[in-house]
Formats: sequence, structure tokens, C-alpha cells
Amino acid sequence: MLAYTYKEHGKFILEEKERPVLKDPKDAIVKVTLASICTSDLHIKHGSVPRAVPGITVGHEMVGIVEEAGSGVTKVKPGDRVTVNVETFCGECFFCQHGFVNNCEDPDGGWALGCRIDGGQAEYVRVPHADQGLNRIPDSVTDEQALFVGDILATGYWAARISEIKPDDTVLIIGAGPTGLCTLACVLLKEPEKVIVCETDERRISFVREHYPQALVFDPQSEDPESFVRSHTRHRGADVVLEVAGTEKTFEMAWKCARPNAIVTIVALYDRPQTLPLPGMYGKNLTFKTGGVDGCDCDAILKLIGEGKIDTTPLITHTYPLEKIEEAYELFEEKRDGVIKVAVRV
Ligand SMILES: [Zn+2]
Ligand SMILES: [Zn+2]
Repeated sequence: MLAYTYKEHGKFILEEKERPVLKDPKDAIVKVTLASICTSDLHIKHGSVPRAVPGITVGHEMVGIVEEAGSGVTKVKPGDRVTVNVETFCGECFFCQHGFVNNCEDPDGGWALGCRIDGGQAEYVRVPHADQGLNRIPDSVTDEQALFVGDILATGYWAARISEIKPDDTVLIIGAGPTGLCTLACVLLKEPEKVIVCETDERRISFVREHYPQALVFDPQSEDPESFVRSHTRHRGADVVLEVAGTEKTFEMAWKCARPNAIVTIVALYDRPQTLPLPGMYGKNLTFKTGGVDGCDCDAILKLIGEGKIDTTPLITHTYPLEKIEEAYELFEEKRDGVIKVAVRV
């Protein structure tokens, strides 16, 4: 089968590989129908994910059809259309039992697919702990609608869930990239009084205006973020801040725009450590929640998609066949042609 493979630092290639086989009764083999490229794939390519293993098939955001299920799999059967979760988790350890599936103690626990074990930018993928890692797609939901459920949509849903958003809150979301947009979609479901989005890219700003007119979007290059947020919150600052951009500047912006006693949720992944200047922040009494999605709400997300409450299909700006995945990566990496997300059809 064809599989897009992490060869060495800076190099992915499309190559022929053996089709995966069941290794454990809890495994399932999924025939991939639609996959997508994530910024984390680029992080692997450029060496900023040290635990990524050279030789593995990349890709951790995909949907497909169950081809084969081990004897210990009870939730799905061959022929079922499913989303694949970016996280592998056992469902039984202390962390899984408490819903902290990102910290699952299983050797394959956490982000393994397309990082430490073969992923899904390929014709087939082996999914360990398939009862946890696969979710059936309702008949009314298309592959395109379900594509982001296991990764960026799971992240947005988790971020909105842990941010304790209340009806009279003003929520600030920093960054309207793919994950920021999924976060925005999930925050809107909580119906806070106001949602403000901070974004520098002109095309992303127009995308937010077109698809999420309920949100107020501003460009920090033309407006001072702190004064903008204050002026829209009766001068108190944001009640909840979700940082989805991942730079030094946006980290600082997150706590500066937060009102005293706010919740600041860090969704982004940073390249470097960030600084909290505690003496200057004294008295602000902030609560920080730090990153690492617990992707255990996929059934709930699929239900919301089925009900028409979440629609992330406009994020798919381009589609390529697996044979042309190289081109798809080039476009995504160079951010050409207004790309937000690229789907790869297998
Ligand atoms: Zn990802
Ligand atoms: Zn576990």
C-alpha cells in the first residue's frame, strides 16, 4: 500500500509499505478514505517532535472504514465508517478513568499514531485500543464533516469545555488558524455574551467575518489588544482567554488581556519555554490551564455535527489524492492560495 513516510529530518516520502496487520485483540485495521495534513506533521518534518520515530507513516487526522477488528473489539465492526482519534488510550488506567486520556499510562498512550507508530496518510492504518480510538460516524454526517473530529475539533471542544465559560462572559480567542477556528466554533456553542478573535492574517480575518459573524475580530497590528479588549468589556478585560497562536507575543497578550481572576487556557504548543513575570502579575489572581487535549468527546462532537451545530467543512479549502500528497504538503507549508486545511483523498 502507499504510505507517506517520515524518512529523516526534513524529509517525508510516499512509498510502498506492507499493509498493517492486527497485533493485539484490541486493534482494528481501518481503510482510510480521507486524511488531512496538520501543522504537527510539519513539526515532525522539521524535527521539533523528538519522540517521532523515523520510518513511521505520518498522519493523525483521518476517517475511514473498519476493515478488520480484533476479537477484543466490541464497539465497532468491519464496514463501520469511523473517525480515528489522534490519541491512543486504554480507557482503564487512572488517567483514562478520570477523562485525562492524553495522559493514559499505556505504552501507546497519548499521541502515538503518525508519531511513534504508523499513522493514516496511507491506505490503511492499525489503530490500537480501537474501542476508545474509533467513533462511528452517523449516516447523516459525511467524511468531510467528520474529518477533524479526532484532532483539531477534539482540541477546540476540549478547550471550550475546560474554560468554564459562563453566559455573561467575554471570551477572547487568540489565533484563527485551523485549531483556533475549531475552538471558536466550540466556544460559540457555550453562548457567551461576547466572543472576540485576535488574528493578524487578512484572509483568516475575512474567513471569521464570513463564517462566524457573531464573533468580533480584530488585527493586533492595527489595534492595541489590551485597549481593544478593555473597550469591549466595560474596561475590565476578558473573562476567559484561549491562546491558540503559540508565540511569545501571544502568550504575553493572553495574560495581559485577561481580567483579574480570569481563566487563561493555553491551547497552543510553543517551540520554547514562556515567561510568567509573576511580580508584575501579582494581584491578578489568574487561573492557567495548560495544553494537551483530552480527546474523549468524539461521540458528542459527531452528534453536534449531525444536528448541524458544528460545521467545519469550510475549513477544507483544498483536496488532493494521496498520490499527490507531496504537492498538498507544499501548498500547506507555504500557506499558498488561501489554504486553511488540505484533505487527502485515499
Ligand atoms: Zn494534529
Ligand atoms: Zn489509559
